Amino acid sequence: MKYLVIVGDGMADYPVEEVNGKTPLQVAEKPNMDEIARRGRMGMLRTLRPSLPRGSDVANLIMLGYDPCSCYTGRGPLEAAARGIRAGDDEVVFRCNLITVEENRVADYSGGHITTGEAEVLISELNKRFSNIGRFYTGVSYRNIFVSKRGQGLKATPPHDIVGEEYGKHLLKPDNEDSRLLNRMMVESISVLSENQVNIRRRNKGEKPANMAWIWGQGRMPNLEPFALKHGLRGAVIAAVDLIKGIGRLAQMHVPDVPGATGYYDTSYENKAVYAVKSLEESDFVYLHVESPDEAGHEGSFETKVKVIEEMDKRLFRKILDSVDENVSISILVDHPTPVSVRNHTLDPTPFAVMKPGLNGDGLPFDEDSGLRGSFGLVDGMEIVKLIKRV
Ligand SMILES: [Zn+2]
Repeated sequence: MKYLVIVGDGMADYPVEEVNGKTPLQVAEKPNMDEIARRGRMGMLRTLRPSLPRGSDVANLIMLGYDPCSCYTGRGPLEAAARGIRAGDDEVVFRCNLITVEENRVADYSGGHITTGEAEVLISELNKRFSNIGRFYTGVSYRNIFVSKRGQGLKATPPHDIVGEEYGKHLLKPDNEDSRLLNRMMVESISVLSENQVNIRRRNKGEKPANMAWIWGQGRMPNLEPFALKHGLRGAVIAAVDLIKGIGRLAQMHVPDVPGATGYYDTSYENKAVYAVKSLEESDFVYLHVESPDEAGHEGSFETKVKVIEEMDKRLFRKILDSVDENVSISILVDHPTPVSVRNHTLDPTPFAVMKPGLNGDGLPFDEDSGLRGSFGLVDGMEIVKLIKRV
């Protein structure tokens, strides 16, 4: 038996009054996801912990069977692993957002969705100026990496949580030698970046400048037990975002780069399906992560979320159902809800479905209500790989 697990990031939601109390999953036309759910069994999955950040990193570690309390060190190290960035045992790896500040307030956590090419220029400027403190690495668009010997244990704030607020109130804490040095670097980055040609051009085009380097999500590089050792299966990860690719790399799974996979609405669902099916040749377990529903949740758009789910169903699920044989079990998981009314992740359990030849199906469509009525009941995320293998 081979196992294909498809994760709709942030795909679950709350009932929306304007559409008769329905959710995006209930409104969306998704015959292929529903076919998998009807032929399979459903339940609810507890994917997060109240004591930990409610991030996709924590949720996906848990769903792959890794206890974040013992192996989660922060977002930075996971994204660095996806890029093959190395750090010493005494070094700390941060996520570095290139953000927009206006009148001492955070105006945009994404620097106006600066392009990766533009980010590269700004990152090399930062390296020239701050090489005595650490090293900056380009990632994707505004999502970059900073490595330093300083900063372990400091409290840092994700910029997407403080849009509109004075950045001065959210610099690194508590006050000590490390935080003073790193905070001064962040504040000085404003003058370094503001007058750079990239930002002059952006301002002239009416685009937001990426005029501050904001570091957060730091930790030391984690040690993950190899996936094959943990589950006795050769594993692969198909994803666009560094966070998930990094988990796969650290777990020594096969993580191909998928052309056209962007982590946004313009991602190539087709290529992701093709690479997932291809990976089933060499691997026993393929983890296919799709980011776009989460982006729609953060954007707060019900219509966009419905459209994204319909696109996924038509262009990814159909292609997979047409390409795999009876020897493949297909599961649908959701790492956390990103309700359009909240525009952020919540701790609520999420619906899941497991379809496998010979399994008596629950006959339910894939949505939150069905999850609650499903025959698996409530399952802890750490148990889901074992359950998928066992049933
Ligand atoms: Zn997520």
